[in-house]
Amino acid sequence: MKIILIYPPFCSPSTMPHSISYLKSFISQSFNLKIKCLDLNAKFNKKRFKEFYSQKCSPEIFTEFDKVSRPIYSKNNKLIYQNNNPELFKEMLSLIKKESPDLVAFSLVYNSQCFYAQALIQELKKLNIPTLIGGPAVNHHLYEMSTFLVDEHQFADYIEKNYNLKRSVPKEVIPDFSDFDKKDYLTEEIVIPLRTSHSCYYKQCAFCTHHQSQNYREIPLEQIKKTIIKSGYKNVFFFDDMISKKRLLELATVLKPLKVKWWCQLRPSKELLGSFKTLYDSGLRSVSWGVESGNQRVLDLMCKGTNITDISKVLKESHESGIKNLVFIIIGFPTETKEELFDSIKFVENNSKYIDLISTSRFGLQRGSKVFMYPEKYGITEIKENSRTILEGQITYKVKSGMTPEDVKKFHHRYLRSFVKINKITKVYNYFKEQTLFL
Ligand code: SF4
Repeated sequence: MKIILIYPPFCSPSTMPHSISYLKSFISQSFNLKIKCLDLNAKFNKKRFKEFYSQKCSPEIFTEFDKVSRPIYSKNNKLIYQNNNPELFKEMLSLIKKESPDLVAFSLVYNSQCFYAQALIQELKKLNIPTLIGGPAVNHHLYEMSTFLVDEHQFADYIEKNYNLKRSVPKEVIPDFSDFDKKDYLTEEIVIPLRTSHSCYYKQCAFCTHHQSQNYREIPLEQIKKTIIKSGYKNVFFFDDMISKKRLLELATVLKPLKVKWWCQLRPSKELLGSFKTLYDSGLRSVSWGVESGNQRVLDLMCKGTNITDISKVLKESHESGIKNLVFIIIGFPTETKEELFDSIKFVENNSKYIDLISTSRFGLQRGSKVFMYPEKYGITEIKENSRTILEGQITYKVKSGMTPEDVKKFHHRYLRSFVKINKITKVYNYFKEQTLFL
């Protein structure tokens, strides 16, 4: 039996995918079968935008790539929406067919991958090749087209039940990046994505659904070390939504002798003070900080568990240790006023010396978040969901006080410049965050 694991277009082609590398390791240890990863996102981008791959990566190359690729992605999504084949469809399909798979499984991490995946699933159905889907971006339209599996355990249950294969318990799941071709990635050097834990130990932020209310579980440090050594790569992108100080310091001990450079995302809380020198010495070069707001009332309402004074100290100490600070700001958290938005602008101006890049986003109401579940606590008076053809419905809402969603849109455009002027790194690195390791 042969299984092909697909990572479909479109998303950034700068890192190898983690999800299918992990699945390959888990399933190949569970059963005696053939299994292969196919990163069609990387293959599509390399073929469609080949002119970018023959040049040395630079801020200009990434900026130009972003400018050229975005309209192509949307044009193709539109084609699929209108029931036409997207570009390079035959080529992508033939890469799957060439493997003569008995089963094809799709991993969907971003909404932008749902379109091309849908077109491929439809075509595979015509060829009588069964498909499976999984990942955080799967929506109810795709549930109807393919078999949805929650995780690797359900995947193994499915194989056991449907293919009558004998199953073993995997000993140590080391993500396997060996099926990917280094030349397929638009990157200065190969960066591998890894996680150190599942879910988030904090789980309090009112806007967040990333942890999906799952239990926090840590991956053994020895396993992380073996994965890096086995991959042979020297740059790591830890995509955990957040890592505790204790865990960061344990990681630093493991990573220092490996001489890797690494990136991670953190909550700027005061417990981190005093640890940045050790973290830098272990290879930490860039951090994305969930600052979210420069106004204390808004931070408290978000349950962020941080305060403005400590955030400044954290950014300063991190910067002075040589680490690049990338800062996330949310605009328009329900009840936020225009004056409170100005507090965020003032905050980044006052701390501009310590900030390398800012990523602003408008607040989006997520099903399952605390704001969605207890709207009255956040001044939300009405929630509506407008259905869409390929993606999950779009949620809109009204607020009792503060900026309306329309104001937020208007002010985001109007004051974007006030945030962007702080940037010391070209803004395209918000989409290629792991590349800040090479700046
Ligand atoms: S925003 Fe980050 S720290 Fe807050 S709950 Fe979500 S994952 Fe955890």
